[in-house]
Amino acid sequence: MDNQETLFTKIINREVPAKIIYEDDLCIAFRDINPQAPLHALLVPKQVLPKLSDSSQQEQSLLGHLMLTTALIAEQQGYADAFRVVVNNGEDAGQTVFHLHIHIIAGRELSWPPG
Ligand code: AMP
Repeated sequence: MDNQETLFTKIINREVPAKIIYEDDLCIAFRDINPQAPLHALLVPKQVLPKLSDSSQQEQSLLGHLMLTTALIAEQQGYADAFRVVVNNGEDAGQTVFHLHIHIIAGRELSWPPG
């Protein structure tokens, strides 16, 4: 499962261009190609996990790292105090790329419920 090729693996491997805003050993963040707000980044683990619900106890530390990194990226981009974090899990929830990713959205008023 780890070596599955996804669109986001291609971005990680620089085979598909993206506006990368953050990278470390475990994950990468880049701007969404169809931004829904002034900041709309996708934070993606380098390990391929198709969806959040495929994770297990083994991924506990990776998932924690992704959450901490989400807050770091929001801060680095100037939105420490107000940002939204979204994970679409499964087709019926709007997931289109089956490589776990966290949407980091900020820079405009965000209503609730999200729809
Ligand atoms: P989701 O629908 O939650 O699976 O999110 C997938 C996201 O990937 C969407 O917001 C797309 O706009 C975004 N996306 C698709 N292709 C690219 C790409 N080549 N570079 C950056 N973002 C992309």
